[in-house]
Amino acid sequence: MMFIDPHIHTSSRTTDDYEAMQQAGVVAVIEPAFWMGQPRTQVGSFQDYFSSLVGWERFRASQFGIKHYCTIGLNSREANNEALAEEVMELLPLFLSKEGVVAVGEIGYDDQTPLEDKYFRAQLELAREMDMPVMVHTPHRDKKAGTSRSMDVCQEHGLAPSEVVIDHNNEETVKEVLDRGFWAAFSIYPHTKMSPERMTAIVQQYGPERIIVNSAADWGISDVLSVPKTANLMKEKGVPEEHIRLTCYQNALDAYGQSGQMNEADLLTPELVDQRKKFSGNSILRGGQTPRVDKSGS
Ligand SMILES: [Zn+2]
Repeated sequence: MMFIDPHIHTSSRTTDDYEAMQQAGVVAVIEPAFWMGQPRTQVGSFQDYFSSLVGWERFRASQFGIKHYCTIGLNSREANNEALAEEVMELLPLFLSKEGVVAVGEIGYDDQTPLEDKYFRAQLELAREMDMPVMVHTPHRDKKAGTSRSMDVCQEHGLAPSEVVIDHNNEETVKEVLDRGFWAAFSIYPHTKMSPERMTAIVQQYGPERIIVNSAADWGISDVLSVPKTANLMKEKGVPEEHIRLTCYQNALDAYGQSGQMNEADLLTPELVDQRKKFSGNSILRGGQTPRVDKSGS
């Protein structure tokens, strides 16, 4: 079975993770621009980070046979630094128009401060002007109200629910998100929050329409195999194969494919891995290692 992990911060992960994902059937990932664990202090840090998302990281994924897409945006935490946020806003249109950028994101609320609200709205305007889908990060605190508010604000700014993925849902938020016509994404974390078991129960209760499963794996305790593991559990529990395909592959493609940057043909005929390749003169190989070079048909 083929999987897409439509929310994973692969820049923070190892090459072992890429290998494991490919072996488990992950053919494509979407890496949302987010914060790095500590606040950036200068606009140049954002510029280089965005460049790496559309450049080096995309190359690095290709060296393991995985298609890498990304979203570009100013995250909610760092929206609270107004002077810096203004400078980051200036960068966004350029990076949003790069190849492989499938949405504005992940944007939304963290503590639901006035500055978070200001830059969430400004970026929704940008998404509308540039006709791009939006990936919304919902707050972990006060989630239910924060999720409703995020959807209200998206609609106030003229975005259609079909263009917006509401992420990090749980049992409390899913019904409203689906009823209002938005995409409902779920991040499967080990030990806490949404588990494969709870995810399976949600798909059994609500069906597969507009539900998207992701790992949200980053530099914290998380699991890059959350999508295939959840798919396997769904299969064990008797969830129809078509429902697994929709929630772990097709819905993400349909939602982010609206950008025009993500086409199924590219996933069905993946580029052959050739680790002899370089990006700006740099290779993923270290001295003396044997490159993996796939031959067609193998
Ligand atoms: Zn994230």
